[in-house]
Amino acid sequence: MGRGDVFELAGRFSPDLIVCDTSTPSIYNDVEVAADLKKLLPESFIALVGTHPTALPEETLLLGDGPAAVAMGEYDMTLLDLARCLEEGGDVGRVAGLCLRRGDSFVRTPPRPLIEDVDSLPFVSESYKKHLNIRDYYFAAADYPVIQIISARGCPQRCFFCVYPQTFHGRRFRPRSPENVAAEFAYIADTFPRVREIGIEDDTFTVDRKRAREICRLLVGQSNRLKWYTNVRADVDYETLAAMRNAGCRLVTVGFESGSQEVLDRMRKGLRLEQSYAFMRAARKAGILVHGCIMVGNPGETRETMEESLRFARRLACDSFQFYPLIVYPGTEAWDWAREGGYLLTEDYSRWLSPSLSHASPISIPGLSMDEQQRFCERAYRAYHFRPRYLAGKLVQSIARPSEGRRNLRSAAQYFGYLARSLVAGG
Ligand code: SF4
Repeated sequence: MGRGDVFELAGRFSPDLIVCDTSTPSIYNDVEVAADLKKLLPESFIALVGTHPTALPEETLLLGDGPAAVAMGEYDMTLLDLARCLEEGGDVGRVAGLCLRRGDSFVRTPPRPLIEDVDSLPFVSESYKKHLNIRDYYFAAADYPVIQIISARGCPQRCFFCVYPQTFHGRRFRPRSPENVAAEFAYIADTFPRVREIGIEDDTFTVDRKRAREICRLLVGQSNRLKWYTNVRADVDYETLAAMRNAGCRLVTVGFESGSQEVLDRMRKGLRLEQSYAFMRAARKAGILVHGCIMVGNPGETRETMEESLRFARRLACDSFQFYPLIVYPGTEAWDWAREGGYLLTEDYSRWLSPSLSHASPISIPGLSMDEQQRFCERAYRAYHFRPRYLAGKLVQSIARPSEGRRNLRSAAQYFGYLARSLVAGG
């Protein structure tokens, strides 16, 4: 939707409460849209949510006078309380979890505790049913149409760059019960006959492997027809991966991050290189596809360690790989490291988006400029995916599994679209 459509819809609907989701690269635009909505609907109360305003609530409210508040962190219950409070004409200062604009200053209400009974939340797929057209949403790694859900919140690991555990969901693992997750699979299968895949977008699905296997057991028991993908660490055992495959898991996304043990240790990944190799052997044996992620520009990164990462990626031989520079987000240890070390080139958040609309963050570390990191990532992507052996494997896969063939074609189209945008942007 363009802005005009949004304003027209909002004008017709005339809501009392408007909630704007945000992201770091779009934050100026988000606040600007909120300001325009406020002009259109002066009586409305506008709240911002997201990792960025959670980390920097006052700074974000200072960007424009449209939003009246930030709902900080995990905001489900904060927004519900806020809506009730506004409906009853109460004092919003009594709603926990807010940073409120009060004239020229700001006040923070008491912190909002994290939700303990995650099963008490309604299925997000019910909201898809009520409000969204599933055909509007596309994700390159998944078959289409896809619905994304979350089966657990929080990750106990301490990766220094990772934004959600540090700003939102916390480090304590708070899972939904296996029964509740399996029930949502059944609901989606019944309600959306066209949906082909479910994305379980947990920070880490396999924190509790016993629970993961129990979800799989229930899915097999209810003859689950839906494929699914999820995010895991490279420390999952074969038994769990085999159970996942048996229950319909098609693909897992894994942050291998670096081929240098020293760089892995300095980002506090808590992972040994040998574990990654063992994981890949187990995933192949189980028949699960792996989308791997490599990041460059972490503490200790050099040209040599970046090359090690590319060699590591080739040896791992995942179904696909992404190579990105480290993106530092406000609220993370990586952000503090980059700021304190003088590596952050600017705090103009629009620079968190490259000219070709891809992720970016303007960091130069000693001996490795931002441009060099970006160029390496583009070269590594091509070096990994445009090898004759890899392309031949993809051809065989596309013939053997037509749904993967469709997905491969869409991914290729997306990549060439990105290349075209880069050329136009001169990026
Ligand atoms: S294991 Fe994954 S989700 Fe957990 S902190 Fe590290 S990067 Fe984040």
